[in-house]
This record gives sequence, C-alpha cells and structure tokens, in this order.
Amino acid sequence: MKPLLHVEDLNAFYGDLQALFGVDFSVGEGECIAVIGSNGAGKSTLLRSVTGLHRGRSAKRLSLAGAEISQRAASEIVAMGMTLVPEGRRLFSSLTVEENLTIGRSAGRAGYWNLSRIYELFPTLLELGGRPVTKLSGGQQQMVAMGRALMTNPNLLLCDEISLGLAPVVVKGIYDNFARVRGQGTAVIIVEQDIGRALSVADRIICLRKGAVMLSGAPASFTRNQIAEAYFGVE
Ligand code: ATP
Repeated sequence: MKPLLHVEDLNAFYGDLQALFGVDFSVGEGECIAVIGSNGAGKSTLLRSVTGLHRGRSAKRLSLAGAEISQRAASEIVAMGMTLVPEGRRLFSSLTVEENLTIGRSAGRAGYWNLSRIYELFPTLLELGGRPVTKLSGGQQQMVAMGRALMTNPNLLLCDEISLGLAPVVVKGIYDNFARVRGQGTAVIIVEQDIGRALSVADRIICLRKGAVMLSGAPASFTRNQIAEAYFGVE
C-alpha cells in the first residue's frame, strides 16, 4: 500500500543549528503514529517541517498522497489534506469560537467535518460558539484548536502536545474523540509527553533523540528498557 505521508532523509536547521538529522518515516492511511522524545529532541520541528511551517529544511523525499510537497506553502499543504494542531493552540484570539472553526473550513476542503459535526463531537462548544476564545478554559480552547483543524477535512491530522497543562479528565475526553476522528479514516500523528498514553493509542511509535530516529515500530515490539534507552540514551 502506498504511504499517505512519505518522509525520506529529512534534515532541519535553525541557522547553524541542525535540529533534525536524516529522519525517515512514513504514515499509512488511517494509521496513528506517536512521536516521543525528551525536551528539545526535535518533535515540534518534525511536525512543523513536514507541514511546511518550518522552511529551514531539506529532504530527499517529502510527499503527501504521492505528491511532492517540499516546495509547497503551508497553506497549500493544508488544502492538500495535512493539518497541524500546533503546540500552544495558536487560536485567533480576537475571534469567537465559531469564527475560529469557520476559518478551518475556508483553509481546507469540504468533507465529513462541518460545524454541526464539530459541535456533535464537542458538545461543550455549542453553547460557546459566540464567545471570544480568550474567555474559554484551556481544555475548551484545545477543543476549538482540534475542531478548527478537523474543519479542514484532513487525511492526516498532526497534534503537537495537545494534553499539555490540561486536567486528566479533559485529556481523556480529547483522546476519546480520536476514536471517532480515526473512524472517518483520518490518519493521526501525535506528539505526546505521556509515554504510557502514546504507547496505548498508537499503531506505531517513533522515538527521537537529538534530532535522529532512535527507534520506530509497533509499541508491542519493544521492551520498556528498549524504549527508555531510545528516549534517554545510555551515557
Ligand atoms: P519540546 O518537547 O521542548 O517541545 P521538541 O522535541 O519539540 O521539544 P524542538 O522544539 O523541535 O524539540 O527543538 C529541537 C531543537 O531545535 C532544540 O535544540 C531547540 O533548542 C531548537 N529550536 C527549536 N526552535 C528553535 C528556534 N526557533 N530557533 C532556534 N532553535 C530552535
């Protein structure tokens, strides 16, 4: 089967600093991949590089559904079916919940996800549609960020640390919704600090350390020690 996202020899830079070194991986249709690694390992840079938000990168191959995307603008990549829920949510703070969601629709394409389905997925948001997003709790804002991304109707949704700073019950609610998102055939890449959660939701994990892939495969194929060693390294 052809991969949905194919990444070969991806290198990323911030000026003289190299943040990713020869990263190879692919994501199949409907698959869930978790990217793990300690602070500064390069997880956000990886997501931002493949979605075209970080431009200081090069790759031998970077393709989405068979089309080369390394020269495409981030907005074009969204329209082609790959959307990031960024770390820190990055909502449009002067706009209401519904306006934020609607922007997702205009940036992406038509499909299963529309306003009423987002409200069905996150019923809490229904009563808050007219409110400025700044008046919402962190958990509610995270729902808006996910809703906005889903409104683009991606084939591949990337989520960068969506549980950061949220209460466990809120995190559980957000992860429960992944089942429905994936039920639509959407593939997902999550960056997750909680390794236990990453291992429990992902079909495959990728562990980064110092910008390089240390381990990649089905969670069940590794022992705890192998994962810890890939994550922390052995000095
Ligand atoms: P965290 O869990 O802390 O978010 P991460 O695994 O997502 O970490 P990145 O944020 O991708 O890691 O950072 C990878 C490397 O690139 C680090 O060495 C970091 O200091 C560096 N870096 C990230 N953003 C910038 C930037 N805007 N300018 C310079 N260096 C950066």
